[in-house]
Amino acid sequence: MDKKKIKKEYKTEEITIVWEASKCIHSGNCVRGQPKVFNHKARPWIEVDKATKDELIDQIDKCPSGAISYIINES
Ligand code: SF4
Repeated sequence: MDKKKIKKEYKTEEITIVWEASKCIHSGNCVRGQPKVFNHKARPWIEVDKATKDELIDQIDKCPSGAISYIINES
């Protein structure tokens, strides 16, 4: 698959993480900040249930490119 077109969603009941591969500038912020959630060697590479919603939001806000973003799910 063409990496540029990859757009995936990873969901819990509370939050959806949206991943857009083409935007990633490989800063590594996510992998360093939340290594249990973001692991390039694992599949899926984002394990959304390994941190709380607030921890995920805090980390995603540190992504410099917008490659990872989130949507708060309606309850
Ligand atoms: S923090 Fe954002 S730009 Fe950096 S590696 Fe993670 S997804 Fe890519």
